[in-house]
Amino acid sequence: MRTVTVVGASLSGLYAARELRAQGFDGRLVIVGDEVHAPYDRPPLSKDFLTGRTGEDRLALTDAEERTGLDAEWLLGVRARGLDARGRTVLLDGGRTVSTDGVVIATGASARRLPGDVLTGVHTLRTLDDARALREELVRGPRRVVVIGGGFIGAETASSCAGLGHDVTVVEAAPLPLVPPLGPEMAVVVAALHRRGGVSLVTGIGVAALRGGSAAVRHGGDATGPERVRGGPPGPAGPPVTGVELADGRVLPADVVIVGIGAVPNTGWLAGSALALHDGVLCDDGCVTGLPQVVAVGDVARVGGTRAEHWTSATEQPRVAVGNLLAGRTVGTVRSLPYFWSDQYGARIQFAGHRQGADSVRIAEGTVEDGAPGEDGLLALYERDGRTTAVLSVDRPRPFMRERRQLARDQAPVGPATATNL
Ligand SMILES: Cc1cc2nc3c(=O)[nH]c(=O)nc-3n(C[C@H](O)[C@H](O)[C@H](O)COP(=O)(O)OP(=O)(O)OC[C@H]3O[C@@H](n4cnc5c(N)ncnc54)[C@H](O)[C@@H]3O)c2cc1C
Repeated sequence: MRTVTVVGASLSGLYAARELRAQGFDGRLVIVGDEVHAPYDRPPLSKDFLTGRTGEDRLALTDAEERTGLDAEWLLGVRARGLDARGRTVLLDGGRTVSTDGVVIATGASARRLPGDVLTGVHTLRTLDDARALREELVRGPRRVVVIGGGFIGAETASSCAGLGHDVTVVEAAPLPLVPPLGPEMAVVVAALHRRGGVSLVTGIGVAALRGGSAAVRHGGDATGPERVRGGPPGPAGPPVTGVELADGRVLPADVVIVGIGAVPNTGWLAGSALALHDGVLCDDGCVTGLPQVVAVGDVARVGGTRAEHWTSATEQPRVAVGNLLAGRTVGTVRSLPYFWSDQYGARIQFAGHRQGADSVRIAEGTVEDGAPGEDGLLALYERDGRTTAVLSVDRPRPFMRERRQLARDQAPVGPATATNL
């Protein structure tokens, strides 16, 4: 291969570039990223960056010295618009093209938006620019914040906002947040952290509309009221948000609304390519797509039927994907144990393994006090047929590591991974 193009200049794209050089690729390496920023780390955006404990200088994933060593052409602020049917030409903004022998797709995911969320004060949190904009609002003084969605990003953001002294409510459509990744027994315990952090949790009810000015922007993009608010790109043009209307007619007053309702894989640019797309780029267990010279990694990749949105998957898949790309066929598969962490309300939550709905849960260490993890944290084991399938820890990092390592050793998978997306 003389040229390899990595599309997506973030976590998994950077790891892929490193692997290409580490595995002996000495040809032309082109890295295309539509953000203007050099690769940066996203997890702090909802945590210490939002609270101001971490500055932008601490987010960088790479430095000038490494970038020189990688000897790559960085096309930042440039969007890939398409991939030809043979997977040999990447089409860029402005009609430019890159002829290539291999492609690593690392375009990640974007925050899912509410239709018509054009009101000022409504935010999503995926990029550095999103986090900057949200932070700017939060430092202006006490705000009434409504977080829509009680998943990990929603919970972390709520925790950070509460830590900054804002009045925070989380709205979750399901009866309980975090059931898909943690199961109901542990989801209820982890959700109790909101209460401990002074945040109100409203569950089992959907959002009907965002209210702003004299208008209500309804789900589906419809707007009612004297001032009709049209759908379109979010921006400062809309009137300020004033509240969140729930499906039962209740209105939660809000100065700031954070929409944390999941992420959508960035596959739009691949429409018309020969690749199979279905909630991500479909790949085999080795990250190889239907074209042997095209691999996909990170949040955009559906690897062997599972698409993870976890930092660790995005850093582990590139080694295997690049090995297969350079070999021209699948010679290795991704076998790492699913793992993610989350920091909320001063607690570190860690989860690893392949949980399934019927697994039983046992608290092996620590306690549950008043429905929430006790001050000394807890370690819970998920079990099936007498075997441990997964482990959850709240502030018990050492025993968690022990169990995680053991699970990895026993890795003959006992079932497919559950969708534990953040
Ligand atoms: C706020 C936040 C907190 C998180 N916290 C945790 C955590 O605590 N624990 C955990 O395990 N995980 C966490 N994650 C998830 C983790 O950050 C992701 O799994 C990881 O960023 C995935 O990396 P990626 O490179 O695959 O995708 P991304 O980071 O999404 O990067 C993809 C890049 O490709 C670019 N791109 C998209 N389309 C194009 C195109 N057509 N042309 C060019 N470039 C394109 C995007 O703009 C982006 O820069 C968090 C994520 C967020 C947003």
